[in-house]
Amino acid sequence: MATQAPAREGSEAAPGSPAVRLKGIRRTYGDVVAIAGLDLDIAEGEFFTLLGPSGSGKTTTLRVIAGFERPDAGSVELAGVDVTHAAPSERDVNTVFQDYALFPHMTVQENVEYGLRVKGVGRRERRMKANEVLERVRLPQVGARRPVQLSGGQRQRVALARAIVNRPTVLLLDEPLGALDLKLRQEMQVFLKALQQDLGITFVYVTHDQEEALTMSDRMAVFNEGRIEQVGSPADVYEHPETEFVAGFVGVSNVLERGGRRFTIRPEKIHMIEGIGGDGETGVIRDVVYVGMVTRYIVDLHSGGELVVVRQNLETSSREVLEAKGKRVRLEWRPEHTYEIDKEENR
Ligand code: ADP
Ligand code: MG
Repeated sequence: MATQAPAREGSEAAPGSPAVRLKGIRRTYGDVVAIAGLDLDIAEGEFFTLLGPSGSGKTTTLRVIAGFERPDAGSVELAGVDVTHAAPSERDVNTVFQDYALFPHMTVQENVEYGLRVKGVGRRERRMKANEVLERVRLPQVGARRPVQLSGGQRQRVALARAIVNRPTVLLLDEPLGALDLKLRQEMQVFLKALQQDLGITFVYVTHDQEEALTMSDRMAVFNEGRIEQVGSPADVYEHPETEFVAGFVGVSNVLERGGRRFTIRPEKIHMIEGIGGDGETGVIRDVVYVGMVTRYIVDLHSGGELVVVRQNLETSSREVLEAKGKRVRLEWRPEHTYEIDKEENR
């Protein structure tokens, strides 16, 4: 069977190198600094997420990896090979966009085969590979249809099939589930993660949705204004946020000031007891937000500041929790559940 030569001819991939390495990447648009000096290593086979608010530089970073953007400074390596000056087609990378970018005049089958056709793969092999990949994304029956005849979720899976059919070593995904409703999005999160593990391809996944990042990633980088604030596993980033920005963007920011130092504590780690006396912080419940599965309590502390406490509604009714408003409470937590943020060395 004829196989395609990988796109990086003339340069040897160095074994053991990260799948993607960004060194000192900077990209500006006029006065706007889209990326301000980025260093990042993404390991082979990793599901790596770029998480951050709109405008923080995630898409620009993806486009620099893909080669659609040239950085003003810095270098891009793929599997140990410097591709900073290589064209997108010379990089062993594919991209899935949020808006799918399917060819409307082509059938699903033709869309999926497109990349193989450009590379000169023969008709029979194209057909076989496209069928195999359509089956993988659970769309075996729609090959003859055109994109307009599909649902949003189906179109997104066609875009995915088209991107993985020639087995890139790195797949870049830019908010691929952004246009889908919540239920479908949650299904697709599980599906994408399983697909990535199955294929063993490195995924670089962009999202502004913290829950999505926590659900899917092996590791994630939290972006803020063109910089990375923190890189780590989901548990690491959630439990040990290093800056106030990370604490607030990935979860609820509960900040305590103590003797000039700042600490965070996650709302679900706080034990709330009615009445005062005993150890711990005391305060008054200022607000109660009933959210079905859980209730959020906003507590004004006697020592100044406020903390959010989350409790599961195990045995309480909505009426009971709402009556908690105005009550005096004591808050306790295990010392290891607080984490110091904005330390000098992390700034
Ligand atoms: P994100 O994907 O995190 O929302 P982007 O990487 O798209 O962020 O954008 C980062 C910053 O760069 C934003 O301020 C955006 O307005 C700016 N930017 C991105 N692309 C361009 C462009 N082609 N021309 C001018 N400014 C741009
Ligand atoms: Mg973007």
